[in-house]
Amino acid sequence: MGWRDERLGVPAGSPRNEGVDRRDFVKVCTMAAAAVGLPASAGLKMAEAAAAGLKPSVIWLHFQECTGCTESLLRTSHPGLAELILDLVSLDYHETLFAAAGYQIEEALHEAMEANAGKYICVVEGAIPTKDGGIYCKIAGRTAIDILQDVGSKAGAVIAIGSCASWGGIPSADPNPTGAVGAPEILEGIPVITLPGCPANPYNFLGTALQYATFGTLPALDDKNRPLFAYGRTIHEHCPRRAHFDAGRFVRQYGDEGHNLGWCLFAMGCKGPETHANCSVADFGEIPGCWPIGIGHPCFGCTEQGVGFHKPMHQEAALPENAVPPIFPDHRSSSTAAAAGVAGLVGGAVIGAGLMASKKLAEGGGEEGSS
Ligand code: SF4
Repeated sequence: MGWRDERLGVPAGSPRNEGVDRRDFVKVCTMAAAAVGLPASAGLKMAEAAAAGLKPSVIWLHFQECTGCTESLLRTSHPGLAELILDLVSLDYHETLFAAAGYQIEEALHEAMEANAGKYICVVEGAIPTKDGGIYCKIAGRTAIDILQDVGSKAGAVIAIGSCASWGGIPSADPNPTGAVGAPEILEGIPVITLPGCPANPYNFLGTALQYATFGTLPALDDKNRPLFAYGRTIHEHCPRRAHFDAGRFVRQYGDEGHNLGWCLFAMGCKGPETHANCSVADFGEIPGCWPIGIGHPCFGCTEQGVGFHKPMHQEAALPENAVPPIFPDHRSSSTAAAAGVAGLVGGAVIGAGLMASKKLAEGGGEEGSS
């Protein structure tokens, strides 16, 4: 069943049921393939498989969350993308999008599980409460724990979308009153691909799901089962403000000169150096610059377990080894942003480390002192 199915509340002939042309269809598949590091030809194969009716059956479970991941998948800026996504997968169960409810939707769930046993993709959105036997999230008389163990154990692949499903997210923030955990902790022994983010980038999900559906393979994963194509590097490594970090130009206060000039937000508590995600290179909602750092706010670390929703917003991030260029053998002995910045500034002057640094230096700017 797909987007045009009436269970989704889209009657035939409605404006949202007009379909999309093949060009857009192939374009989205190509972007999804590129997201996971596959060539454009793989995108074409994905489109052909979907057009031939070989859409992956997707059973989408909702637990403790805000439905933000679903919303981000559907509310993109690209016209028709929502329809395209739902043309690419067979969404056989989704509590938020289905018009049906109660016994009808429960029937749809069991039918889909039976018809596609061992093959369907189980997508989990939301954390799972474990305290007091898991009573804080029940659907159709069953706890989230029971439902996930049942649906997850019969799936071909399990994808946890968003930070809540990946490691607990907001519901697990202190004092974690419901004992919220991510899907991997419930499905012990079953591999769960995690796509953390609050919300997760739609293309990270689409690329992963379509690769599995078309080729029966999964992207390379890291030790937290996150696809390396999206979580292999920190935000800091590709941040558009990185040259300012290296040159020691830091925002000290919202609205100050450095903030207006787009300087580095490290001193404001930016968690980019300890947060693995591709936000800095994958436009969110397809709007260039539409992400926290892009609009002048520090990265909150929403994808990273133990950082987002756990560390105070303006607490300085821990600087990993690769956050500062190795200019002097002992330059990492200082943990302050200013010292790191000075090292970067000197290095920038010597090796021409970045465009912004070079520009400022050419202007004779005394960045460190003025920041
Ligand atoms: S600290 Fe934050 S704003 Fe500064 S370069 Fe790193 S990721 Fe970008």
